[in-house]
Amino acid sequence: MKNKQEILDVLQSHFGFDDFRPGQEETINALLEGKDTLSILPTGAGKSLLYQLPAYLLSGTILIVSPLISLMQDQVDRLHRQGEKRVIMLSGQLVGKERASVLRNLKSFKFVFTSPEMLDNQQVLTALKKNKVALMVIDEAHCISQWGPDFRPEYLLLKEVRQQLGSPTTLLLTATATPRIRQDILKKMGMATAYQVIKSVDRPNIFLAGQSVATQKEKDGELLKLIQKFTGPGIIYFASRKLASQMAEWLENQTDLNVAAYHAGVAPIERFRIQNQFMNNELQVICATSAFGMGIDKNDIRYVIHYHLPSNLENYLQEIGRAGRDGKQSLAVLLYANGDEMIQRQLTSVDVPPVTILEQIKNGKLSANILGEQASLFEFYLEHSFTPQQIIAMFERRKIQTEKELQEMVAYIKEDGCKRKYLLTYFGEQFDGPNEFCCDNELSNWSTKLVLPISQPI
Ligand code: ADP
Ligand code: MG
Repeated sequence: MKNKQEILDVLQSHFGFDDFRPGQEETINALLEGKDTLSILPTGAGKSLLYQLPAYLLSGTILIVSPLISLMQDQVDRLHRQGEKRVIMLSGQLVGKERASVLRNLKSFKFVFTSPEMLDNQQVLTALKKNKVALMVIDEAHCISQWGPDFRPEYLLLKEVRQQLGSPTTLLLTATATPRIRQDILKKMGMATAYQVIKSVDRPNIFLAGQSVATQKEKDGELLKLIQKFTGPGIIYFASRKLASQMAEWLENQTDLNVAAYHAGVAPIERFRIQNQFMNNELQVICATSAFGMGIDKNDIRYVIHYHLPSNLENYLQEIGRAGRDGKQSLAVLLYANGDEMIQRQLTSVDVPPVTILEQIKNGKLSANILGEQASLFEFYLEHSFTPQQIIAMFERRKIQTEKELQEMVAYIKEDGCKRKYLLTYFGEQFDGPNEFCCDNELSNWSTKLVLPISQPI
């Protein structure tokens, strides 16, 4: 058992922080006592510290499972910046000799980042077993739930992987999980008795606003007004790359702000440049698709505007959570023109192929490629011996779920009561009533009255 002072010393010496933020100390104590833990802390709360700090007090490897290469890379870079060199990313990019060598020398790494697919590999598992895994961390743990927006079937492998590793102390991390998803995460991991640290998803320093307009043209006008008034730094999210680029150009012409587009269609080197310019305040506004933001560690973003509806409230909360990490007053605006949900419905539509096709793919008579974007998902299910009927049932459930999520998103924008109350109720929380800085329901004419930033953190 580590004493409090010892833990605070590590916080100071390795991270340069004097105090813990809410939920951090409680989680770290539980882990150091060997308790499996589920921590639900809002975006920007400091979840990385929950496993980085114990690393300096435990002997053995910290294994971190993450759904995206970009997220892993971001964590690796951050550890490097903190002076920690014993970090490795075990991904599909690591091949041949290089991979064999890393696996042989796994002992020399304190932090091993990897994807669930990688852990499906016996070689990798054997190497990990030889080195004691002191802590297994599952980042973005909501990906294991089919009731969640980011379901990743590969995450279903993790229960078995964990058992194969001898059930090391495990930390499940996520920012947003409704009570139902929370239960589902624990059930799918076989961790029903895990210790739970749950902090409100609320971000009281973010003002929540919606703006309904009749036409797209009107929406452009509103957007222009907003960015001229609230000068940023800010992010505007679009559902399409093309529109993000077009609007960036238009806004740059219409204002004296520096605006750039950021999405998967922009060349990597250019993306890197834009990200740096934004970090250094040379750019005030980024017009982005959801590809931008994960792992962005800029704490003075003043507003996040959505030009289109996000696919669900989980993603919405995640995206607006990039504003105001410095604790100062910030703004989230959702713009909505009648019929906008059609755009989102098209983007998230789930096609369920007939069982005969799936059977033919299973028997090798047809290539999975005919399923287009969903080919790899089907291959995954088939490899893990789901039957075509089970696969179809999963996709049908997904389809119903997607539509339900969209309806909840639309209900949020149409809500004429308190938006914060609506959001918090959705996430299974009590709401004690609005303070002065809450949402458009409590402050009519907010776009004229609101002034940002108020310099004192609230
Ligand atoms: P999350 O994963 O919960 O979104 P991160 O782990 O990325 O959050 O941390 C967000 C920011 O908070 C980082 O810049 C991190 O350095 C900072 N941070 C974390 N813990 C503390 C702390 N105890 N005191 C001050 N800053 C902290
Ligand atoms: Mg994180």
